[in-house]
Amino acid sequence: MNRDGRKVVLVGTGMVGMSFAYSLVNQGGICNELVLIDVNKARANGEAMDLNHGLAFGKSNMKIYAGEYSDCRDADIVVIAAGVAQKEGETRLDLLQRNTEVFKSIIGPVVKSGFDGIFLVATNPVDIMTRVTYELSRFGATRVIGTGTSLDTARLRYLLGDYFTVDPRNIHAYVIGEHGDSEFVPFSQVMLATKPVGSIIADPRNGYSREKIEEIEDQVRTAAYKIIEAKNATYYGIGMALTRIVRAILGDENSVLTVSCKLCGEYGERSVFIGVPAIIGRSGVKEILELDLTEEESAKFRASAKVLNDSFEGLTL
Ligand code: NAD
Repeated sequence: MNRDGRKVVLVGTGMVGMSFAYSLVNQGGICNELVLIDVNKARANGEAMDLNHGLAFGKSNMKIYAGEYSDCRDADIVVIAAGVAQKEGETRLDLLQRNTEVFKSIIGPVVKSGFDGIFLVATNPVDIMTRVTYELSRFGATRVIGTGTSLDTARLRYLLGDYFTVDPRNIHAYVIGEHGDSEFVPFSQVMLATKPVGSIIADPRNGYSREKIEEIEDQVRTAAYKIIEAKNATYYGIGMALTRIVRAILGDENSVLTVSCKLCGEYGERSVFIGVPAIIGRSGVKEILELDLTEEESAKFRASAKVLNDSFEGLTL
């Protein structure tokens, strides 16, 4: 690891990768060295130039350059956003085999460089690509993290905040499970400040309904499809989610974020990488939080884990 500095290597300088890089530069102070790698070297070079030219207007200084896999040697985090973007009508799971081949060409050289930091994966289907990274790298599970349902959780809080006319930061709610069609919101765990939303809805004088909350859950689940329909891809939100996770790691924040990580008996599951609230700090996943799910919610979680296990098992690594 780069003990003196905070060095991040980004593999994949497409829309998601560069939205992350742009947000990193604009938020400032998160890392002081950013290396850009892409199979399209000219693109990585151009992106490095463009970002460097904007640095003068930024908040803090950073060393930014297009590099090689050998630059991962002393990096703290390798962020992977390389792959093929999801197309209209295509499910995330359809992308799996194509992106696995891409990952084989990335993880090997990163590990060979002597990299000893944390992998952070955004490429879809993200839960499976994170597990692929774990299998190919043979790193400890705490050091392999996917963006999971972090963005979905942010979308949920934004929509619930709007419905209850409350700052989304005071809504405590998580989207858990696969980052995809089987993800869900455990409503028993949705709180407005410390008040369960279930009890707010139960009082008809408040004028809120369970149906509307279910509509919001559906909106969160289909948000990516809607954005892709309108503008072909999604990138700003996930770029900012990546920045948030990197900040939590490098700042040793011990923040609770819904990332994709390996379960070791939590929620009755083993081996699967799936979106759950976890405490994220300098060493990666410090602890997985096990929510008190109802029977119905537990069944949804098991179903989501099964979707991910089934897809992973059909994969040739
Ligand atoms: P993009 O096509 O704009 O960028 C992909 C980049 O990967 C390109 O620059 C390409 O040259 C590079 N690349 C391809 N193969 C490579 C290889 N072998 N080595 C190095 N680089 C390689 O796509 P995008 O819109 O940036 O999306 C990237 C990934 O992020 C997709 O898998 C997409 O589905 C995913 N995504 C995830 C989330 C999430 O919530 N996790 C959200 C949006 C998009």
